[in-house]
Amino acid sequence: MRSVTGLHHVTAISGPAQENLDFYAGVLGMRLVKRSVNQDDPGTYHLFYADAAGSPGTDLTFFPWAHLAPPRPGHGLASEVSLAVPPGALDYWGPRLARYGAELGSIAVRFGERTLPLRDPHGLGLALVESAGATTRTFEPWDASPVPVERQVRGLHGARVRERELAASTRLLAEALGFRLLASDGAWQRWAVGDGGSGTWLDVAEAPGEPRGAWGVGAIHHLAWRVDDPAHQLEVRARVEALAHPTPVIDRFWFRSVYFKEPGGVLFELATDGPGFAVDEAPARLGESLVLPPWLEGQRAAIERALPPLAAPAPAEVAP
Ligand code: ZN
Repeated sequence: MRSVTGLHHVTAISGPAQENLDFYAGVLGMRLVKRSVNQDDPGTYHLFYADAAGSPGTDLTFFPWAHLAPPRPGHGLASEVSLAVPPGALDYWGPRLARYGAELGSIAVRFGERTLPLRDPHGLGLALVESAGATTRTFEPWDASPVPVERQVRGLHGARVRERELAASTRLLAEALGFRLLASDGAWQRWAVGDGGSGTWLDVAEAPGEPRGAWGVGAIHHLAWRVDDPAHQLEVRARVEALAHPTPVIDRFWFRSVYFKEPGGVLFELATDGPGFAVDEAPARLGESLVLPPWLEGQRAAIERALPPLAAPAPAEVAP
């Protein structure tokens, strides 16, 4: 059985787009690799932050739906996305994030790795994880980042999901996606594909006493899992069909997507590694202008009028 190969991207709901850009590009130093719109709601941006090349597995994306209420934390929702940084980098990141007013938790050791939990300006649960594996990942440094290359975020590390009960969800993880249970740490089970490693982790916990979680500003919208190509995607989709209700393949232009809710209610996606973000922009100019998929080009003028302008990131430091 060919498993999925790890996280492809994670998509979350943010507040105002400029504040989102200021934080992810201006503070975390990730590259805005695609400035597009939500293909199902083209009056809303879809902003993609990644390494310099937009490599699969490095990509955190946002729908700025600032009008939504805060989310309701609970089961059936992904509660945190973690980003891999090189060993020792938290000594740089802690003071930097504090300087820009990020809400920081305490550094903890999770599954043997130093982890700094934090909230982005709109409440999204993030964690920076010092990972030895971060240094050997496919990663294209972003030379124009405000963060020095040796401290930069190397990509998605993993995600946390809370479920009312685990059995049906972990069955889908194992039988359809090819995950294995590799470790436990407190309430959290660590699942991974292959031999595990940074970029492959999914940590799940049972939370039967919680309400059903609901999306809002600061919630994770979905977790997308990597598949090599369209044939691999159809193979995994066929196994998902036995346990859930996947959509047909949808052409997202930069990759092809299949969506489904896993049995606990978390929205998952299967996304192909290709063709990638350089299909419609020169690699040196990624993210600089609004890119629309071909079928929305005819509506460009109206779409541009509806979107708030975005200026170069200029995050504000808090007073010491
Ligand atoms: Zn997606």
